Amino acid sequence: MNRAVLIRQTTYDVEALEKAVDRLFSAFDFYERISPGTEVVIKPNLVMRSAPEEAIITHPNLVAAAALCLQKRGARVLVAESGGGLYNPSVMKSVFRGCGYTAAAEKYGFSLYTACLSQPVELTRGVRCGTLSVLEPFVQPRQSLVVNMAKLKTHGMMGYSGAVKNLFGTVPGLMKPELHCRYPEKEPFAEMLVDLCDYIQADFSIIDGIEAMEGDGPTGGQKRFVGALIGAQSPYAADLAGAAVIGMQPEEILMLKNAVARGLCDDAPVTLEGDPLESVQVPDFKRARSSDVDFLTRVPKPLRPLAKKITTPYPRIRRKDCVGCGKCAESCPQHTIVVRDHKAQIDYGRCIRCFCCHEMCPKHVIDIRRFSIFNL
Ligand code: SF4
Ligand code: SF4
Repeated sequence: MNRAVLIRQTTYDVEALEKAVDRLFSAFDFYERISPGTEVVIKPNLVMRSAPEEAIITHPNLVAAAALCLQKRGARVLVAESGGGLYNPSVMKSVFRGCGYTAAAEKYGFSLYTACLSQPVELTRGVRCGTLSVLEPFVQPRQSLVVNMAKLKTHGMMGYSGAVKNLFGTVPGLMKPELHCRYPEKEPFAEMLVDLCDYIQADFSIIDGIEAMEGDGPTGGQKRFVGALIGAQSPYAADLAGAAVIGMQPEEILMLKNAVARGLCDDAPVTLEGDPLESVQVPDFKRARSSDVDFLTRVPKPLRPLAKKITTPYPRIRRKDCVGCGKCAESCPQHTIVVRDHKAQIDYGRCIRCFCCHEMCPKHVIDIRRFSIFNL
C-alpha cells in the first residue's frame, strides 16, 4: 500500500525535529528493527558543498534529529553520500564540513563515511541497468539498515527530485556522468534510477520539504518555504506524497511511472496520514524550465522529433559571471565543456542536455534556456 505520513514542520530546531522524526519512525514501527549495536546508514542529499540555508541539501539538523532518535534505541549511525564531481576523502571531508555535517556529527555523536570506497555490483533485477558501482555502506547483502533522507526539489533533467532520485548519490562521483552517458534520454535514465532504488532497498525514506527548492533545481532554483516533512517505508510512497505537496501528478514523474509499470509501486493514490495535506500544499510550486512533457504530448506524433529538437532546453553559461573553476567540465559526461581564459564554453554538438553542469556549478551561472517563444 502507498502509505506515507505528513507532518507540518516549520523550523529546523533539532528538538522539534526529533519529535517529528520520532512520529514518522513510530508510525511505521521502525524502531522494532533496531536493537543495541544495529548500524543505520543515513543517505542524505549533499549534491554539492552548500550552506544548509540555501535549501540545496538535506538540512544537517534533520539528519541529527534522526540520528538522536536512532541512537536512543542503541543504533550506531553512519552518514554516507557522494555528490557530483570527484569522490575521495579530501573532497568528502570538505563537503561534509561545508554543509554543516561535521559540526553536527561532533555535537550529536554520529559518524561520517569518508573512506570513500565503492564496489561494482550486479543489479540482478535490473530492467535497464545490469551493473554499476555503489558506495561500500550500501552494497548488498548488508546487515545495516538504510534511511534515505532526501530534499524536496525540482530537477532540471527529471523534473522532480525526492526519495528515488536521492539514491543516485549511492553511486560514486564520476560514475554518475558515465551513467548519464549510458542513458542520455530521460526514460532510460529513470529506468536506471528505479533499478538502483530496487537494489538499494532503503528501509525508510524521509523527505525534507521544510525549505524546498522550486524553479531550476536541484541547485540553481529558488528556496521556497513549504513546511512539510514526509516519512514512508517505501521511497515511492514518499515521492507520491512529495508530488502531492507540490502539486505534481504522479504520471509526470518518470521514476514513479516506471515503478508502477513494474509493480514496485501500487497504481493507487497515496494514503496520507498525519497532518492535513492542505496545511502544507503549494500548488503554485514553480517547475523546472526544462519540463517539456506536457507540451510534446500535445504535438501530433509525426512532428514530435522536430518539436523535441526545438523545444529541448539547453544549458547556457553566463560568461561574465563564470570564474573558470572547471567544475562543470569535470561533471560533463560528454566532455563537451572546455575552460579557456578562465571561462567555460560548451560544444552543443555533443551536449545531451543532462544538466549535470547546471547542477554542479558552484556559482550558479549555468542557466537552463529554451527558445523564447516557449517561455510565453
Ligand atoms: S562550474 Fe560554473 S563558474 Fe565554474 S567554470 Fe563552469 S560555468 Fe564557470
Ligand atoms: S554540457 Fe552540460 S548538459 Fe550538456 S552534456 Fe555536458 S553536462 Fe550535460
